[in-house]
Amino acid sequence: MSTSRLPAVFLGHGSPMNTLEHNRFTQAWRSFGAGLPEVRAVLAVSAHWYTNATMVTAMERPRTIHDFFGFPDELFAVEYPAPGSPEVAAEVVEAAEPTWVGLDQDGWGLDHGTWSVLVHVLPDASVPVVQLSINALEPLEHHLALARRLAPLRDRGVLVLASGNVVHNLRRLDWSAPEQGSDWARRFDEAARDVVVDDPGDVLRLREHPDFALAAPTPDHFVPLLYLAALAAEDGTAPEVLVDGYAYGGLSMTSYVLPA
Ligand code: ZN
Repeated sequence: MSTSRLPAVFLGHGSPMNTLEHNRFTQAWRSFGAGLPEVRAVLAVSAHWYTNATMVTAMERPRTIHDFFGFPDELFAVEYPAPGSPEVAAEVVEAAEPTWVGLDQDGWGLDHGTWSVLVHVLPDASVPVVQLSINALEPLEHHLALARRLAPLRDRGVLVLASGNVVHNLRRLDWSAPEQGSDWARRFDEAARDVVVDDPGDVLRLREHPDFALAAPTPDHFVPLLYLAALAAEDGTAPEVLVDGYAYGGLSMTSYVLPA
């Protein structure tokens, strides 16, 4: 078993099309992956498994879930055949206590929040991947506390990968602005950067930001950021911006790395 301490990462995944594209975001994700030491397993917290329970995938062979509509056939043909790891799933269950985590044997798999970035970070798909659901019934404070308890996994060769978007408002997309952020998106993303880098334990103060309701009209893409912030607070180490930028006015593509 690898025992090296690993960084943790929050990746702003944006459009599923980033799977197939080569742009400065995917390049940054690839560079991050190429610089990793040996990874025993990935624990992914994806915006797209936002459900009414806390579950971890525990199957040997998680399927690639194409959880989107209206994209090209080429994207539906993408497979990310990484193995699962019942062993690591069991370690997640134990680390999460007293939160109860259900073992998912056949319900989920790897959704595009996970594989659209992992095709770049770990393109071989040889490292086992487990996904942890986001329990939609729990308050934001719960996710911070749970994420802190996952910190010891980083010392057991587990890469914690949180995948969401700091700003994610699909109703406010501006198709004429593929690489720009609206004013409110920029204000919120910059405020998030200040707190994540300087005071990650206080990340929930972002709820009081005047642009919070526009930036995170639903919690699903915001909550993964809390996992990275909580790990940083637990560690006392400052996250670093891996890459930043905007897409279509209403998406922030900012990604953060918590160094090992
Ligand atoms: Zn998404």
